[in-house]
Amino acid sequence: MVSKDKSAQLVTPARLAQAVTGDAWTLHILRHAFRGARRYSQWRELFTSEGMPIPEPVLSDRLSRLVSYQILERQPATPQGVHREYRLTDRGLELWTLLISIRDWEARYAKGRRGKTTSMILHTSCGHATHPVLICSHCGERVTARDTRLEMVAARSSALAAKLVNVPNTRRSNAVGRGGRSKFLQSQTLQIIGDRWSNMLLGALFLGKHGFDELRLFLAIPPAILSNRLAKFVTLGILRKESHDETPRRKFYRLTEKGLELFPIVIFTVDWGNRWLTAHPENFRILHTTCGATLRPSLNCSHCQEHLQRQTVQLIP
Ligand SMILES: [Zn+2]
Ligand SMILES: [Zn+2]
Repeated sequence: MVSKDKSAQLVTPARLAQAVTGDAWTLHILRHAFRGARRYSQWRELFTSEGMPIPEPVLSDRLSRLVSYQILERQPATPQGVHREYRLTDRGLELWTLLISIRDWEARYAKGRRGKTTSMILHTSCGHATHPVLICSHCGERVTARDTRLEMVAARSSALAAKLVNVPNTRRSNAVGRGGRSKFLQSQTLQIIGDRWSNMLLGALFLGKHGFDELRLFLAIPPAILSNRLAKFVTLGILRKESHDETPRRKFYRLTEKGLELFPIVIFTVDWGNRWLTAHPENFRILHTTCGATLRPSLNCSHCQEHLQRQTVQLIP
């Protein structure tokens, strides 16, 4: 169980991963990278084609950060090095489970900008549309938020961790994508995960933090920002307010079914952060209480039940 005191000071894998994924521009850059963007100009074209041109300083900044996090690696495209290329590293490629989980949640819960959507996730091995099912790699059973438990001890921060935790909050990220035509990473999703405080709040809710003050202390978040994000989550229908007291500070919040379905997104963020960004992954583990093993999350196809792999999954826009 999480210790109650000073939890926010712990360098948790979730906190590290959120430094990477809790930024809307970064998520879009990664999405384009998975679509094959390699060059600066390709990213600019993709952003522009979706109606949300990315400012050059923002693109440069995010690409360099992704290189420093070792998610992208920079390599010259020609022997002369005329065009620099950025490629996803193994660490970066693993983020496909996160992106797929986001896409699937959106397909089920976020309303498309143009009403009915024809987009889907195709499992090329069986040839059917799939809704990825979160599975425990150890026992092969389906996993939900309700049958997991977190165990954590204070993690020592690595050099990379220190760098990540000190990343300033990117306040302008909220503006991203609102006017875009992308069916992926819609405005609603970005309000939940593409903003660092919201992203951290979501993680805390899944850790079983429910009270206003409990959340405030755990996240070391300014009360006004916490109120704002909680109200937003309630409006988006992922959180329900349960008043046990008239005092605003004593209000309790519970994830709704729609909110609980964000679990794969949270679990892949935390698992990825734990394996790639922490110096001591053994200090942090999520137990699958049904089988007792440490949860290594993976995805199965909802149609053929086979294990989904990055190479056999295709997003149909
Ligand atoms: Zn299991
Ligand atoms: Zn399948």
